[in-house]
Amino acid sequence: MTSGDKLFGRLLKRTPPAAHELPDPLGSPATGLHLYLNDDGGVVQMAGPLRHLLAQFKPQDQPLPLSTYLLPHSTLTIEGRPREWQGLLLDLDFFGLGEQTVHLRGWVQPQGNGWLMQLIDIADLLLERQQSRHRDVCQLIAGQVSEQVRACSQVRLPVIVSEQLQMIAQRWHIPCLALALLDDEQQGWQIHRQYRAHDAPDLWHDGQRLGTPLDSLNGAAPQRVGAHHGLDEHSRVQALFGSAEGFAVPYSDERGVVAWLLCGFYPVDSAAPYLTERDWMTLLGALAGPLLGRLREQQHHLQLERIEALQTLLGTGWWEILAGDAHIQLAPALAAALNVNPGGLALEDWLAQIHPADRDELRSRLQALQQHGEALTLSVRLRGGNNEQAPTWYRVQGQVIGNGKFRRLAGFMLDISDIQNQQQRAAAAHARLDNLIASSPAVIYVQHYHEGALIPAFFSASLQPLLGWSLEDCGSGALIEMIHPDDRDRYFARSRQLLREGSVRARYRLRDRHGEYHWLLDEAKLLRNDLGLPVEAVGLWLDVTEATLAAEQVKKSEERYRILVEDSPAMICRYRPDLILTFGNRPLATYLECTPEQLPGVDLGSWMSAEQRAAFVQRLGSLTAEHPVSTAEISLQLPGREHAWWVWSDRGVFDEHGQLIEVQAVGRDNTEVRRSQQQLTQSAKMATLGEMATGLAHEINQPLNVMRMAIVNVLKRLGNGDVQVDYLTDKLNRIDAQVQRAAKVVDHMRVFGRRSEIEQQLFNPASAIEGTLSLLAEGMRGKGVDLRISETGFEVQVRGYVDQLEQVLINLMVNARDALLSKREKDSSFKPWIAIYAERDEQSVRLWVEDNGGGIDPRLLERIFEPFFTTKPIGVGTGLGLSVSYGIIDNMGGELSVRNSVEGARFCIELPIAADA
Ligand code: ADP
Repeated sequence: MTSGDKLFGRLLKRTPPAAHELPDPLGSPATGLHLYLNDDGGVVQMAGPLRHLLAQFKPQDQPLPLSTYLLPHSTLTIEGRPREWQGLLLDLDFFGLGEQTVHLRGWVQPQGNGWLMQLIDIADLLLERQQSRHRDVCQLIAGQVSEQVRACSQVRLPVIVSEQLQMIAQRWHIPCLALALLDDEQQGWQIHRQYRAHDAPDLWHDGQRLGTPLDSLNGAAPQRVGAHHGLDEHSRVQALFGSAEGFAVPYSDERGVVAWLLCGFYPVDSAAPYLTERDWMTLLGALAGPLLGRLREQQHHLQLERIEALQTLLGTGWWEILAGDAHIQLAPALAAALNVNPGGLALEDWLAQIHPADRDELRSRLQALQQHGEALTLSVRLRGGNNEQAPTWYRVQGQVIGNGKFRRLAGFMLDISDIQNQQQRAAAAHARLDNLIASSPAVIYVQHYHEGALIPAFFSASLQPLLGWSLEDCGSGALIEMIHPDDRDRYFARSRQLLREGSVRARYRLRDRHGEYHWLLDEAKLLRNDLGLPVEAVGLWLDVTEATLAAEQVKKSEERYRILVEDSPAMICRYRPDLILTFGNRPLATYLECTPEQLPGVDLGSWMSAEQRAAFVQRLGSLTAEHPVSTAEISLQLPGREHAWWVWSDRGVFDEHGQLIEVQAVGRDNTEVRRSQQQLTQSAKMATLGEMATGLAHEINQPLNVMRMAIVNVLKRLGNGDVQVDYLTDKLNRIDAQVQRAAKVVDHMRVFGRRSEIEQQLFNPASAIEGTLSLLAEGMRGKGVDLRISETGFEVQVRGYVDQLEQVLINLMVNARDALLSKREKDSSFKPWIAIYAERDEQSVRLWVEDNGGGIDPRLLERIFEPFFTTKPIGVGTGLGLSVSYGIIDNMGGELSVRNSVEGARFCIELPIAADA
């Protein structure tokens, strides 16, 4: 320690100067570090710029041994004393400032009475050595990575890539490592694979879309990402790296930057100081290069497959003819579709597949392509297929590719059958439509709009056959002249409405070339331009002359029928199945005491009794579409009149299901006829009664005689005084019985003489037989006529009037008696008889009245039911009996008939059995 040292320290403004930092007596070296050592290796002095890099040690009284300044492993190099170090190259690592190590290389040489150790900085040298060592490693790894990615199977590729990433990450301690590739649309970036150390943050995931932030990085060299790298402006990039320090390595090929290796949470300079940017790029290149190759290859393969599939689906494919070769190559799918050899075929064989109609054209177009390079586009049909099938159409396109030796013709064939056939069908439909329009009674026309007027601009060809005019004939103004003068106002109104409302429908008459008028139905629509202004009217004329005339005829005839109905004396009406009137004419209204307008809604059944109504509805129920008409005599209780009888004809109207929807009816008042008939019946009845007077006298006389005998006998006994109570009682009982018998006859006579009930009743026909016999039996037997009455008591009911049926039976029996008695006048041995018997089946009951009176002259058989027909002398026969009887049975819905049997006449009364009995 000298005072000079202190002075130097002061000059350097350093306090306090260390003992070993005294100025070098031989001057300060410009570079490196000079140490002055004593014989024991103690550091006496330090000089040179490098000394500022070394760690400072507290100065001691004694010089500090050199080993104090060295890292432990370097102390081995300098065991012993400086003398022993002579001639050796010493690589020494010194403690530097901070935690740094200062690598120096030097040698010793004697200097004065000590040793001078001169040292130079070999940090660069060491770094380079390290780097080259790492580069070797890096190269080796890159080689392995590339080999792995290149050689693995397609299936293993994703796994292998992940493994390689993991290996790289682990080798260089990268917490998060990812490979980003351009996404499918080549628009942004996407994490292809990533690796993350188990304790590292979750920065990325496989398949993650990153967007475009990576584009803002410079793709020429690896980029450091982080706040202290001045990339704040790329906040999106930073966000990508979790705002921590990161490192991004680009990979470029002929398409530019196509991959990035992203290292997250990775301060690359301190973590991998020996790896150069080139090493990183090599490493990434080894991974991304072959990977991209394989991915592209894969995609290419997929695309080829897709195209192949598409070609097969579309029945399309390429073709190619090599220069100067008469052979053509076809895509496999196309060859399969054409059913030819996929390995290529002679041009002529290919042409032979084409329909003869198109073949020559294709050949000539191919030649034009061959010789002049004229591009080829042609639609051709394939040969074959039967006529019914639509032909297969192909579009053939071709062009020249390449030059000279490489010149070839190539193109494709596309199956366009669908389009072509559709076009043909459309064209055919079009033609048919044109035809139809031309031949139809419709005319299509166009009228141009010009300053508020509509001027004919087009007529379809059908104008000529329809009206005989042409477009020229219908020029401006001329059309109006052709319209019927009475209809011109309508035409103007039609044009105004068309312009106002955009569409119109009108009907007017137009004159044809021969001067005849046609009724035209005109339907037109106005077309407007984008501004909404009228451009033209498109319309249709339909010749409706026939329809219009027919409609007029119908209207006229309807009118005639209306008058007929209105003025008819008959009642005419329409009503629903529930008997509610929908229409009725005046006569009906008059009967019902209202006006025709009041009739709709009136219930026709309200004039009938419940029973009549039920019978009426039942009769309607029997109407069918096949037998829609039914006629009957109906009776009603009309306002202001007691009973009305109408002959009523109903015609049912049925819908398509056979359901009755309406009834149309015509009726006539039959009340007067009915009345006179009733009177006739009554007088016939009276006549019958008169006839029966004889029989009746006998009927009454008989009991009177019996009673008289009884009374005479009783009086005789009384005279004798020989009266016993028993005897008296017996006689009185006998008298009482006879009184009852006489009363019964008189009663019956009274009932019989009455007018018939209004309503038909249900009764058993047997009761009529019984009643008849009670009147006639005694008289008949008295005249020696044998009555043969068979069992007639079945439980059946017929509808009608029991007294009227009795009247019929009386007539028949009286007629029979007359015939029998007149026969016996001629032959006294003749034994007359009358048989009455009955039979029935499901629907009807038949009562027979037969005699052995010799029957009726066959020539008269047809006439005996006529009124006033009689073979009896004037004053005896009325000729009404059978005719009235016939009417009565007919009115009951039955039938009276006669036939000659072996011995005489046999009358039959057939009556329908009442359904609700
Ligand atoms: P009338 O008895 O008053 O002549 P009818 O109408 O009852 O009138 O009979 C018409 C005619 O039919 C008779 O005149 C008779 O000639 C004939 N006739 C009716 N019944 C018989 C019968 N049972 N046998 C033969 N003739 C008969």
